[in-house]
Order: sequence, then structure tokens, then C-alpha cells
Amino acid sequence: MADVIPLRGVNAKTTPVIDIWRVGRLHHVQLQNVIAQVGLPAENVVIDASAALEQKNLIQDIRNLGGRLILDTNVAEISSVGKVSKRLRNAPWAPEVGVLSVSTMSASDRTALVDAIAEYAVEHGYQRVIAPSHVLKGGLNTPVFDLDRALCGELRTALDRIGGSYVAVDYCLILQHTVLKVSEEREAIKLGLKNIPFDNLWIRAAGFGSDATPAAIQNFIWNLLLLHSLRRGMIADYVDGLAAESAMYFGAVSAVSRGLVASGRFDVGSWDKVPKNRSPQDSGPPVRIPVFGIDGTLTRQEFQLIGSNPRLRRLVSCGRDCCASGFSDMEQAPKIHAVRSRRLQIDEINSVPDLHRPSHFLSQRMSRSKSLAIQIAKIDSGSEKLDRKFAKAAKRITEAERSLQELEVRVTKDFGRSRAFYADRFAGVKLGRSEK
Ligand SMILES: [Zn+2]
Repeated sequence: MADVIPLRGVNAKTTPVIDIWRVGRLHHVQLQNVIAQVGLPAENVVIDASAALEQKNLIQDIRNLGGRLILDTNVAEISSVGKVSKRLRNAPWAPEVGVLSVSTMSASDRTALVDAIAEYAVEHGYQRVIAPSHVLKGGLNTPVFDLDRALCGELRTALDRIGGSYVAVDYCLILQHTVLKVSEEREAIKLGLKNIPFDNLWIRAAGFGSDATPAAIQNFIWNLLLLHSLRRGMIADYVDGLAAESAMYFGAVSAVSRGLVASGRFDVGSWDKVPKNRSPQDSGPPVRIPVFGIDGTLTRQEFQLIGSNPRLRRLVSCGRDCCASGFSDMEQAPKIHAVRSRRLQIDEINSVPDLHRPSHFLSQRMSRSKSLAIQIAKIDSGSEKLDRKFAKAAKRITEAERSLQELEVRVTKDFGRSRAFYADRFAGVKLGRSEK
């Protein structure tokens, strides 16, 4: 019998998901080892405007390796009294003192700001810019939302005027994750952004991230699915772990952006308060090691502590396809472990047809994570603090499984094949969501 060619119907449709790497403050030297061993952590890379100057060499390497550069203007940060810092003032458009106040700028100053961003993006070879936006405190009913929408349109015009029409513009909504639950707020988002010229919608949801509660994960996915009628690409900003994976598996977003071993959560709690003490040398977060079985990270010290227990050691170690020597590789090179495990995660999602993704997630990833979490929680780690942490992780993952099982039924019924996509004009992806 001749070879049978499988019939590819709608059931086999696969909408690609992608990983977006936020470089943050990493230095070239910190990454040389990672890049030498595993290449670029992800093809799409966000550079903070405030760090770009000191990351000149790193950015050149990323470019040489075929990375696609996305510019974060850091306008939200330099507009916030509790966030702006000496380091953030390195953004080319940051004021020397005080905060950036676009709303009180003269028309000519505002044009100069937008032009500066457009010129910078073109001159430095960015393929995409996240339009300047601000924290929407208390929801969408604020003049700040009007301002941000106007800035997005002005940036598009400025780019087109200087020959940068090839540079894509994305929009970033920065709000409390609970705002997304309110139907009036979601309607305001849809109405407000409908005619704004941008490709992808980044959702930077404060209070939501890799440690989100099961209810928050369920709500996040559901509420983003309700925004699909906007017909734009959807990206979860600063989300990691099972929260990020489930949002991709359920088709709510087609991409997540995150740092290598941190940045899995976003908060604005102190952005509007002047900090009492700011350390002059802010060295960034300490090294943390991602552990799938607890859907979280451990500090190097915690990791070493459990290393003396053979059973715990086995349970927290990743598979050989990620770190060949398991535990010791994770401990010695957490960044490489993070890159490899995320790649495997993304590849696995992309290998499953859209329709089967939620069930695959629940029966494979979620159930494996739960089984590991329960086993880990049963073992005396020798540290009360860690025991509490492991017990909490097991409870959270068990509840998340139940919550997402419920969600699967609702999503299948109400959204069918609706899938978020990543709008990428360079890859020829057309705007317009997948069929429902
Ligand atoms: Zn690993």
C-alpha cells in the first residue's frame, strides 16, 4: 500500500506560541556563558531603553545571532515617583530630576518625546516598540488612558514619517489584574483600543504572575479570552510558571514575556510612593533556581539545603532532556536550566494541535506538576520554612488543577477554537484572530 498521507483538517491546526525574553539589567558577561552554550534564550528580545547604553555589546550579539529587538521605552517607570531611579534615568528621554510628566507637557515637548522614541528605534535597529504607556490606577476611566492611546497613534505616525514604517508598534496595558474581571472595564478596553494602530496587546497585570492563585489564573485566562474580539495579538507581560503555560495552552495569549530567572511577576504597589531608602547600588534580584515540581523558584541556599536529601534531590531535578546532570546542572547554571526548560515548554505547546492543548496541559504538565508537588511536600526537608513553602505549593497546584479543569469545560463551550496569535508582520502573519 502506498504511503498514507494524513489528512490535515481544522482539528490539526496549530497556532504558534512564542517566548519573549526580557533582558532586564543583565550584563554581557553574565550572559556570555549562556549564549555560548545554548544560543539566544529567545528569538524575540525586549531591551529596556534605560539599560540599552550599558548593554551595547550584548545588543550587538543579539542582533548578530538573529534576535529581533523590541524596545521598552520605560516611560511607565520614569513617570512614577516610586520607581524612577538613577539607573532608569539612563533612558534617553528621562528627565534629569523629577519624573516624566507627559500629561503636563507642551504640545511641542510631547512631539519631541515621541519623535525621539521613533528616531531611537529606527537608528538602533529595533523591529518593534512597545508604545509609551502609564499605570492605569483604578481602571480605564482616566485621562491617562486617553493620553496613552494618543501617544500610540502619534508614535505610529512619527515612525512612518521618518521611514520607520517597518517598525511594529505594540500597546501595553498596565493595570491591576482585578480590573480585567470587570465587564465595563473590558468593554472600555475594547472600545478604547479598537481604532488605535498597534499589532499586539501586552497585558502587564499588577498583582498577577508566577505565584498567582488558582482563581486568579482562571480569571486571567477567561478575561483575556473575552478580549479576543479586539483581533490583536495577545501577550502576557512578566508572567512565568504554570500561570504563563496555562494562559498559552488555553489560547488566551500567544506569547509570554519574562526575564531569565526573575520577572515572573509584576507589581506597582510602591510606584506612587517616594521610597524611604533606595540602595545606591541596586544589584538586582538574587539568583533563583526554577523548580517545576513546586511551580516556583528556590534560592541557591535553599537548593543546596535540600541537595543532601536524595529523595528531594531527585524530585526537584529536571529531566535529562533539560539538564543532563540534573540537580548539579541546575545549581551551577540556573540560567541555562531556565532557558532549556522554557524552550522545551514552548516546543511542547507547539507540538499539540490547538484543540487538544487544554486537555494536554491538564493531563500532562499539570498532573505531573501536582504529583511532584505532593511527593515533595511529604518529605521533611530539614527546614520548617521550606516545609511550609512545599506544603503551600502542593495545595496551590492541586487547587489550580481543579480550577483549570472547570475552566476547560467553560472554554470549550464558549470559545471553541478561538486562539490568541502573535502579530508579526515580518513573519507574514496576518492580523485577525483564529476562527471561533
Ligand atoms: Zn534543567
